[in-house]
Amino acid sequence: MENQFENCNLCPRRCGADRTAGKTGFCRMPGEPLVNLIKLHYGEEPVISGNKGSGTVFFEGCSLGCIFCQNYMISRGPTGRGKKMDADELAQAYLSLEESGAHNINLVTPMHFAPVVANSIEKAKLSGLKIPVAVNCSGYDLVSTLKLFDGLVDIYMPDMKYFSSKFSSAYSNAPDYFSVCCSAVDEMFRQTGSIVMGEDGLLKRGIIVRHLILPGGLFDSKHIIDYLTSRYGNKIFISLMSQYTPMPSCTGRLAEKPSKRSCESLSDYLASKGQTNAFIQEYESSGNEMIPDFLT
Ligand code: SF4
Repeated sequence: MENQFENCNLCPRRCGADRTAGKTGFCRMPGEPLVNLIKLHYGEEPVISGNKGSGTVFFEGCSLGCIFCQNYMISRGPTGRGKKMDADELAQAYLSLEESGAHNINLVTPMHFAPVVANSIEKAKLSGLKIPVAVNCSGYDLVSTLKLFDGLVDIYMPDMKYFSSKFSSAYSNAPDYFSVCCSAVDEMFRQTGSIVMGEDGLLKRGIIVRHLILPGGLFDSKHIIDYLTSRYGNKIFISLMSQYTPMPSCTGRLAEKPSKRSCESLSDYLASKGQTNAFIQEYESSGNEMIPDFLT
C-alpha cells in the first residue's frame, strides 16, 4: 500500500515532502503523529462537551498556519514536548477517554497525520469504541484526505475562516481558502448528513461549522453566514466564536479584539437568516482562559 507520507500531498499545500525520511513540509511535522495533550475538555459547544467533557486529543502542527493562531504554542511545533503515538497507542487513548466518561472523541487538527489517525479510529472501533468520533479541523482540507475518514468519523467541526482571498492570503498564505473549504464542508456533509441529536441532548452525527470573528472582518463574516445558511440552513450547526485574543506576534488590526458591537451585529445577522441551529459565544469568553494548558 502506498505510504502517503513519502510524497506528502495530504493537504492543499502539496509539499511533496518525504516525511518518512526526516523531511518536513509547510506543517513541519514528521510522519508519525505528535500528540501534545489528551484531556477531557469542557470548552467546546454544549452539544459536544456536555457535562462530562469531550475526550480531546490535541495534535501538534497545522497545515494552515494562521498568523493569529489561538493555539500557536502547538500549531507551530514541534514543541519538543509532544509524544509520538502510533495507531495502536492512539486507539488505546480513545478507549481510555471513553472509560473516563467522555461523551465523544475529539481529534483536534489531525489532517496532516490523516492516514495514521484514520487507522487508529478503525482500530478503536474494532476494539469496542462506542462514543462518536469528531474531527476538529481548519477547513483547509482536501476532499481526497477527508475520504480516508469516510465511515469512521461521525462529527466534523471545521472552521470556515475567510471568504475573501485578501484575508486568507494575508493571514494564512492561502488565497484558495474559501473554495477549498467549501469543497471540504460539502464532503463532510456527504459523509455525515444532517445533524442527529441523541436523547441526552448531545450531537451524535453531523457538522458544526465554526467561524471565529476577526477584527475588521465584519463583511467577510457576513458572506460566510450567507453562504452557510443558503447552502445548508438548519441541517448543520453554525458556531459564531467571539473568543479572538490577539497573540504576541499580532500587529496592526490583528492586535485589537473585534468590537462587542460587531459581534452582536453578526449574531443578529445569523438569526435574521432563520438559523436556529446556532451557537453564539459570549463576548466575555475571549481571553487566555479559553486556551488549554499545552505542553510548551
Ligand atoms: S500535510 Fe504537511 S507536508 Fe503534507 S502537504 Fe500538507 S503541509 Fe505539506
